[in-house]
Amino acid sequence: MTIVGVLALQGSFNEHIAALRRVGVKGVEIRKPEQLQNVGSLIIPGGESTTMAKLAEYHNLFPTLREFVKMGKPVWGTCAGLIFLANKATGQKTGGQELIGGLDCTVHRNFFGSQIQSFAADIAVPELSSKEGGPEIFRGVFIRAPAILEVGPEVQVLADYPVSSNKVSDSNSADGVQVGNTVSEKRVIVAVRQGNLLATAFHPELTADTRWHSYFLKMLGDVGEGSSSSVVSIGTD
Ligand code: GLN
Repeated sequence: MTIVGVLALQGSFNEHIAALRRVGVKGVEIRKPEQLQNVGSLIIPGGESTTMAKLAEYHNLFPTLREFVKMGKPVWGTCAGLIFLANKATGQKTGGQELIGGLDCTVHRNFFGSQIQSFAADIAVPELSSKEGGPEIFRGVFIRAPAILEVGPEVQVLADYPVSSNKVSDSNSADGVQVGNTVSEKRVIVAVRQGNLLATAFHPELTADTRWHSYFLKMLGDVGEGSSSSVVSIGTD
């Protein structure tokens, strides 16, 4: 049976484990560096990225998590997990926030606003074509959601989302995100893949829809599980 690690410091790790169960996979909670040696892939859930970072620091997880990513093991970050995987985070209250990095992008924390501005919306994922031939439509749950503002050349954009100039100026005026004058002219990126890394700004684990979990499992098949943990020593210092 496939086993997937789920970082269980904070946030929606139980929901990921339940979703994995629905697709026939065992999700195991990861809280300590040595536990990462028992898994070949990892999900970093949504939650609150600064809290998660503090807990990861407390448990001395950063070196091992960075090594895990560098080894080419599949890692999927949802929402706060996306922020955690990004090379750079911007937006309010990001100062000094430690990140795992590896995903060549700039992510804007809380891009869509605060808790009360959370929303659900249909997003199209052209890479996954539906039976009808058009792009698959997913109902994305965006909770204090981040957005990706810039990506490097290796990053494949899987989904984006239109942003009205109102929404941007309401929630992000301090960061001066540039948008056109026309509503919906600007689109921000909400799902990406870069080799072994997958990241979504929304929360598939909070819905009954398991297609993103299945997509991640397919990725495991495509990229394998990186170098074997039995031959690569994972530093814990
Ligand atoms: N914006 C949040 C953060 O900075 C993430 C929100 C989420 O995971 N639902 O951590």
